Amino acid sequence: MKNLVQSAAAAWLAALVLTACGGGGGDSPAGQGGPPLTVDATGVSSFDSTALSASLTILPVESLSAAEKETLAFMREEEKLAHDVYLQLDARWNSVTRVFGNIARSESTHTEAIRQLLLRYALPDPAASLSAGRYQDTRLQALYTQLLATGQLSLIDALKVGAAIEEIDIIDLNQALLTIDNQDIVLVYQNLRKGSRNHLRSFVGTLSNQGVTYVPQYLAPTDYQSIVSTPIERG
Ligand code: ZN
Ligand code: ZN
Repeated sequence: MKNLVQSAAAAWLAALVLTACGGGGGDSPAGQGGPPLTVDATGVSSFDSTALSASLTILPVESLSAAEKETLAFMREEEKLAHDVYLQLDARWNSVTRVFGNIARSESTHTEAIRQLLLRYALPDPAASLSAGRYQDTRLQALYTQLLATGQLSLIDALKVGAAIEEIDIIDLNQALLTIDNQDIVLVYQNLRKGSRNHLRSFVGTLSNQGVTYVPQYLAPTDYQSIVSTPIERG
């Protein structure tokens, strides 16, 4: 009997470990219900709210550093900016491309994922009472105005605005990931960054279909090349 119980316990433990690891690794350890980020054939990368909350549930709520509090507030607004700009560019350009509308929908899941982290740590939400195009951070407010104006000029300008937003997002997430260590925030940020790499590939591909070779505006050329020379990363 003892052996049976022991082997049953061992099998149960092995199943638990497999569930926790999800057989994955890399940027998106899967919780129950699959990886938190779902990626479609065109690279549009959205959080699955059920899978994300399952992934977060198994991670500890650790104490927050000042840097972690600061980046959560900032990234909540930066992802909101991506959503708000794409929604406006979709209104302007959706007769010729669906890329802005599709990516806008995914950005709403990005900013929501950070809102979930703010809730988890009982932190105030800077975007709680702000309408579209409004930000507490003055740099983001200025960036919104500038990008929106550029994106109205032509479809090519609008697609370059999209690529620029994703570049800025990747750089800010790279920087943030150097200063944070709470596992739940790292999980969300790594998935956000993967989503941004996919969105960057999407905008660059759409530009290429328009006969335009995109030149990176913010990323180092080698970092940029390593992203656009590799295929869409699936969830
Ligand atoms: Zn995003
Ligand atoms: Zn994006």
